Amino acid sequence: METIERGSSINKENLKLLITDPMDNVMLQMLQERGIKVDYKPEIDRNSLLNEISNYDVVVVRSRTKVDKEIIERGKNLKIIARAGIGLDNIDVDEAEKRGIKIVYAPGASTDSAVELTIGLMILGARPIFQGISMVKSGSFKKLPGVELAGKTIGIVGFGRIGTKVARVCQALDMKVIAYDVVDIKERAQKMGVIPVNTIDELVRESNVISFHVTVGNDAKPIVTEEHFRQMKEGTILVNTSRAIAIDGKALLKYIDERKLTLVTDVFWHEPPKEDWEIQLARHDRVLITPHIGAQTKEAQYRVAVMTTKNLIQAIQEIGVSL
Ligand code: NAD
Repeated sequence: METIERGSSINKENLKLLITDPMDNVMLQMLQERGIKVDYKPEIDRNSLLNEISNYDVVVVRSRTKVDKEIIERGKNLKIIARAGIGLDNIDVDEAEKRGIKIVYAPGASTDSAVELTIGLMILGARPIFQGISMVKSGSFKKLPGVELAGKTIGIVGFGRIGTKVARVCQALDMKVIAYDVVDIKERAQKMGVIPVNTIDELVRESNVISFHVTVGNDAKPIVTEEHFRQMKEGTILVNTSRAIAIDGKALLKYIDERKLTLVTDVFWHEPPKEDWEIQLARHDRVLITPHIGAQTKEAQYRVAVMTTKNLIQAIQEIGVSL
């Protein structure tokens, strides 16, 4: 496809905006109300995107489209990248920043949905609800034992938006809540009756349930490693709705039987599981995985679309386009 060289004078009539993934209608409506024309290509493949990206000032993606270095290099007219989501895993942020491209997204828009899924997974880890339902459906009706959460200690790793709300719900369940973060959370935690701990080792040793709510980069080192699995209480339930990379999965596979650990997770190292050790872990009786559905509620998707669009409209105005 022929590419168009675009000069610096952009107005809303000639602003070129491409949406590359399926998007909630509310975004299209909000942009159209501002007179912004949209090229909506929710199934565009990578090759077509590489060919067409230089025609656009703005690209809007969800998680399917990877806006990596190559796309950014080809997008020589790109001024704004909008990610309709709460994280920027699929965007090469450094490359975009190097080229002065603005990035907008919707941090926090799916907090409540992620909190609710976390609590659901935690209860699934403590009580054999999934196993019981499957059993009854296949014609068996047997009592299955579990454990109570009340009176147990939960260690929250990452005391940000989601971690803090999970802590509140756990307090309502009469759990003792301890928390660890790389930033200073002491005052905020103590105010709400949560005990801040100074090291991950301390959290791991004291917890019956460990719930992960960290923001870490794709190449970060695991926070919980082999030495931690050895220190965990027998029967510890690990809940992860944040980033799989926070846990050393290969080491977990080695200790899951010895320490009788349970993993209930919405995130996996590869999604779907790919490496041999991931497949073994995924098939383990004490591992339950949901297919990254933490933000997949009607309400969260709507909020993500609205917040991203508001931030996008502001960014378009900041590049000098009056709307
Ligand atoms: P947030 O930024 O509000 O909080 C994250 C916290 O983690 C921060 O306080 C930060 O200091 C802390 N942290 C970072 N590195 C750490 C480390 N090594 N050890 C301990 N603490 C560390 O983020 P949030 O909105 O609460 O989201 C938390 C995570 O949940 C993110 O990774 C987000 O992508 C994920 N999330 C997943 C889903 C899903 O679909 N499963 C939905 C929403 C959010």
